[in-house]
This record gives sequence, structure tokens and C-alpha cells, in this order.
Amino acid sequence: MHKDDVALRKVLALVRSGEATSRAEIARRTSLARSTVGQQVDHLVSCGLVSEDEGSETVRGRPPRVLRISPQAGVIAAADVDGTATHLALSDLTGKVLARETTSIPIEAGPHRALNDLGERIRSLLADHAPDRPLRHVVVGLPAPVTPDGCTVKAPVTLRAATMSGWDGTPVATHLEEVLSAPVTVDNDVNLMALGESCHDDAQGPLLFIKVGAGIGSGVVTAEGTVLRGADGAAGDINHLRIAHDSEVVCACGHTGCLGSVASYRAVLHDLDIPFTEDPLHGSRQLAELTASGDPTTLRRIRRAATHLGEAAALLIQVHNPRTLVLGGLLAQLNDEVLSGVRAAVYDRAAPLFTRKLTITTSTLSDRAGVTGATALALDRVFHDDGLTRLLSHR
Ligand SMILES: [Zn+2]
Repeated sequence: MHKDDVALRKVLALVRSGEATSRAEIARRTSLARSTVGQQVDHLVSCGLVSEDEGSETVRGRPPRVLRISPQAGVIAAADVDGTATHLALSDLTGKVLARETTSIPIEAGPHRALNDLGERIRSLLADHAPDRPLRHVVVGLPAPVTPDGCTVKAPVTLRAATMSGWDGTPVATHLEEVLSAPVTVDNDVNLMALGESCHDDAQGPLLFIKVGAGIGSGVVTAEGTVLRGADGAAGDINHLRIAHDSEVVCACGHTGCLGSVASYRAVLHDLDIPFTEDPLHGSRQLAELTASGDPTTLRRIRRAATHLGEAAALLIQVHNPRTLVLGGLLAQLNDEVLSGVRAAVYDRAAPLFTRKLTITTSTLSDRAGVTGATALALDRVFHDDGLTRLLSHR
């Protein structure tokens, strides 16, 4: 890397993190010559990426001018797409959320319709909340394995959401890039949820996230902050892990005993004769009412799901040795039955070495975990490598 590039990245990193907000402070912290710092700051200001404003009055003398990432430098869009509800967020380049929206994207209607609708929703958010700011990056989470280059959905028979037929091999990123005229990264939804939770100040890594929705998926973020995606982007796709050896329910994949066929939100609704209807949240409302009223059949069914989830979690815990296990998704957030059932099964199955310092909790971000992770990933893409080169060469 050219030495000017190195200097520029150092300066930008300090301004982004807020560790240094004046030219003098940056020079002190980086040991770069003041003239070098001045040059790089001038460059960042002239690109519109950094703003330099009058600071507040100090006791004596002129206050130093304050450097920060300019709110006008651009925006990023984050989407957590799911069959039940899709969450969107628009943020500036400091990560400050400008707008949120929960909407419905028809993923079962196939990629063409769903991606057009998604593009339309993002464009409308931009028009309403940041009409004059350039869109710098978009990150989309989907409930399916995504190739590690963040472009294409791989949805063979191991599909978590059986409603995603027609998506296999879809170049999601390319399609959305054409609609939105901005770089797009696609990732598995649970990877983004894991990333979102790991951004939390109190989160201790490695962090394992298990989403219990229409299907079941997991994601791992290492203590260093790396998402484990696997060779094909399918790491953590545990919906078809054979866990219920006595179950005779035939899964969509043709086998029996799959985790998703006994412990998913969809499986629980099915066994309780609650329809998985056009309004996907109808089922969760009904399930919530039944559990709140203490309906014994419902509680027993949820506890059985929780035990199977805990058995699967115990396996994953012994593979990844996480410090934190976070449960998310519609079923996990329903009530504490799931959490306590998972805890009991994990403590029963995993050796004490794995559980002694392990925290098991439900998602603190709830249905915002996915967009929080997507926002973090989008900022990372904007400020590193190609993203930064693009940012500095536009305008
Ligand atoms: Zn299966």
C-alpha cells in the first residue's frame, strides 16, 4: 500500500472512532508529521467525507476545529428479509439510524418479484429520508445460504424456509445493484443477527446465535469479530440436523428427525393446528395468547421444541466453544419457556468446561438484530478496501 494511503487510513480510523477529533490530536496519536496529517485531512474534507467545524469555546484561546464523518457523506441501507416480516434501516456513515421500516416482502413469490419490491422499498426510504445523499452500500440478509462472496443465494434441498423455491443460484447482489445503483452485499440472515448481537458493548465472543423462525439457522462470530461462513456459505444451516431420533415426522428434505421439523416455529404451529396464514404474524399472536393463558398442550409442545433446540445447541457449543449463546426468532422471543428449556438441555448435554462461563440469553436487539448486523457490515464495506477507494474517488 502507498504510504499516503496508510496515512489516510490512519487519520480516517481515528476520526471515525472519535478517538481524535482535531488535526493536532491526530498528529499526536499517529506520530505522523503535522503536514502529512494536514494533507490527508484536507483530502478527506475535499471529498466531502469528513467535515471540519468550529468547536465549542474553551477557557482561553481559539477552540480547535472539530473533525467528524460528515452526515452528508452518504447513507447505507440494511435489510433483514424474512417470510414473516422484513426489517429495513437507513443510516448515515457514522451508523446513526435515520429511518426504520417493517414491511412485507413476498419471498415465496420468487426472487424477481421479491427483489423488485425490496428495491422499491429501499428507494422509497431514501426518497423520504435522505433525498440528497448518495447511497454508499446496501446489505441484505436472506433466510438461506449465500455464497461467501456475498452475491448469490444457494438454496438446494437444505433450504431453511421451504417457501424460497426458485431462488437457487439467483444473483441477488447483481439484481439489486441494477435497481439501486449502489454496491450490494448479501448474507445469510442469521450471520447478520450474530454480527448485530456481537456489536453490543457487553457481548463476549465467540458468539453463537440461533434463530428459531419458520426454519432454524445458526451463526457464529469469533472473538476477533469474524463471521464463520464456510466454504459454500452454508455454515450453521442446521435446519436438517438429525436431532429427534424418535420422530416420525417427514421433513421437506425427505428425512425424519430434522431439527426444523420438530422445533421450528412452523412445526410448533402445525402441531397445535394454528394455520401458518397469509398474515404470518397471526400465528405468533395466537401462540402468544395460548402460552400467556397457560394452555397445557401449548406449553408442553413448546417445551419439547426447546429441549430439541437445547440438544442441537449443546452440539454446536461443543464444536465452537462460544462465550455467549443468543436465541432469536419468533419462537425464541415468545416467552421464557424456550430459554429455560434450552438452558436445561444445554447444561444436561454439554460438559461443564463448555458451560462454566457460557451466557445463554434471548436477543436483546429482538427483531432489530439482523438490521444492526447488516448496518455494521455495510459500514465495514464502505470504509475498507474497494469501498474506501470508491468513496474517495467519487465526488
Ligand atoms: Zn430435513
